[in-house]
Amino acid sequence: ADIVVHSSTKFLGGHGATLSGIVVDGSTFDWAANADRYPQLADAETRWGERRAFEQYVRFNQLYDFGATLSPFNAFLLQQGLETLSLRLERHAANAHELALWLAEQPGVESVDYAGLPGGRDFELAQRLYGGRSGSVFSVTVEGGLEGARTFIDHLCVFSRMTNIGDTRSLAIHPGTTTHVNFTPERRAALGIHDGLVRLSVGIESVEDLRADLA
Ligand SMILES: *Cc1c(COP(=O)(O)O)cnc(C)c1O
Repeated sequence: ADIVVHSSTKFLGGHGATLSGIVVDGSTFDWAANADRYPQLADAETRWGERRAFEQYVRFNQLYDFGATLSPFNAFLLQQGLETLSLRLERHAANAHELALWLAEQPGVESVDYAGLPGGRDFELAQRLYGGRSGSVFSVTVEGGLEGARTFIDHLCVFSRMTNIGDTRSLAIHPGTTTHVNFTPERRAALGIHDGLVRLSVGIESVEDLRADLA
């Protein structure tokens, strides 16, 4: 990748308290050689026409001219989150792993989409790329379609009903009626977003409390 655009709103901040993002430019892309696609970055009469063109553009155009700058307080929140990132991620991943494997064995559960599930489609890939830790956002499809999903979510007490992911607190949402409500039913089906599918973002609470809540 020449450029990585990353949301620090999620795990980096970790507490659902600040909106922010990061642009990492490796200064490896040859803008001048691709002037037909990026004329504003390859313009030889400006200072943009070099490998750092994109970084300069983001700094001087987006930040300096338009003011898309993180406020000091939001930067402070993000910095505090970063200090516990490694600790939090260990617990996020361990909790999710235990819950996903447990959920897959429960009556009333049709399927669990979690890359760390042995025998699953992406298991080998996840082992190789993530060393056995497969993140803490996954989905579970419960029996009973929309009504089944509604009953499941309505009975959760520890999990909050929330759109965010990567929060220290566990969150649940029904994509079919929220994030993906504007998709046609055919498109949702093609994407594997079944009526009974619930997305979970597993937090860092006691895994016993989380298991009891899901049960
Ligand atoms: C991710 C997310 C956003 C957007 O944050 P970005 O940093 O732009 O990705 C906004 N609201 C909610 C609820 C989110 O989960």
